[in-house]
Amino acid sequence: MDYEGKLSEALTSLRNEGRYRVFADIVRHRGSFPRATFHAPEGEKEIVVWCSNDYLGMGQNELVTSAMHEAVDLVGAGSGGTRNISGTTHYHVELEKEIADLHQKESALLFTSGYIANDATLSTLARVFGDCLTISDELNHASMIEGIRRSGGPKRVWRHNDLEHLEELLQSVPLEQPKIVAFESVYSMDGDIAPIGEICDLAHKYGALTYLDEVHAVGLYGPRGGGIAERDGVLDKVDIIEGTLAKGFGVMGGYIAASEAVVDVVRSYAPGFIFSTSLSPVLVAGILASVRHLKASNVEREVHQERAQTLRKMLLDAGLPVMMCESHIVPVMVKDPVLCKQVADDLLNDHNIYVQPINYPTVPRGTERLRFTPCPLHTDEMMESLVHALDDVWTRRKIRRAA
Ligand SMILES: *Cc1c(COP(=O)(O)O)cnc(C)c1O
Repeated sequence: MDYEGKLSEALTSLRNEGRYRVFADIVRHRGSFPRATFHAPEGEKEIVVWCSNDYLGMGQNELVTSAMHEAVDLVGAGSGGTRNISGTTHYHVELEKEIADLHQKESALLFTSGYIANDATLSTLARVFGDCLTISDELNHASMIEGIRRSGGPKRVWRHNDLEHLEELLQSVPLEQPKIVAFESVYSMDGDIAPIGEICDLAHKYGALTYLDEVHAVGLYGPRGGGIAERDGVLDKVDIIEGTLAKGFGVMGGYIAASEAVVDVVRSYAPGFIFSTSLSPVLVAGILASVRHLKASNVEREVHQERAQTLRKMLLDAGLPVMMCESHIVPVMVKDPVLCKQVADDLLNDHNIYVQPINYPTVPRGTERLRFTPCPLHTDEMMESLVHALDDVWTRRKIRRAA
């Protein structure tokens, strides 16, 4: 076997499709985000980051970083074990209480990432129920898809946010068969929002459990940052809420919030939870500060929404193909993978603007795009120079302007 040849063949095919991933080597500077230093092969330069999921800049918030400083001085760097073997610190216990309260659930469970939370929970629940049908929105995140696949149970994919199709699938199996309806609130690539209450009502009518990924909404929506379900007043209709601590909350980790029984089962049966060292208490201290702050403060959420709307309007006025949506995500369509990569390279090389091209498999082929995530710290001036740069690249590369 020519291992090297096989490996390089695999990579060449990605390159030919414009899908080969090049990581941008950047350093964020506390206090000046979204400015950062880009370590290019030719040397360093200052850039503005336009694609961070640190949506509110909480990763650099003084309250968060000082809580982390305090914790590292008090307890040291790591947790030292899995949750079962010496890795449950008081910080973890406090944070799980805080999260259960945020979502008005009996209980919550921390994971090392949102990815693991989805994968571990969906695979475990469907396995424990036995012959459980998981009905999955077609645009669900890879971590949910992977969890459902690993459950080994039957799966049906429902057309994105299509209630009629969902009902059809719910009706296609006996009422007594266990079912989980899995979906997201804010879909992070198109920025559209699911009708959570209606989906849950339908699911419950057919005896299904509801599983909601609020990764792109926690911290960002709802009066206390509880997400879209909180904003819409339907927290009680969602059986299991999953979230991340890495995006709106700005640190790292993931969680579920649900009934005591659900949490107890996942805690007891999910290998991805059981056999992995728990989050560092330093991270957890930072997360606690972030969650507590965003429960009490609306300023960040309000400015965040205003910034997104302002950028969207500026792009529209400049005749750029911005996708309209009701959330904080601002996608600009390129619809060609190679061109999308070239545009991002031009922005970085010529304009010191960093936005990662989003290509297949993250989005369907033919819908390649730039995904801008304005945060409260992006200024009007930064937005003006972004729009100017895009206008320049669009003209030079003769890219279509209609959305
Ligand atoms: C980012 C993401 C996750 C994973 O969360 P991490 O904490 O980054 O692992 C899960 N679901 C969706 C929809 C995401 O975009």
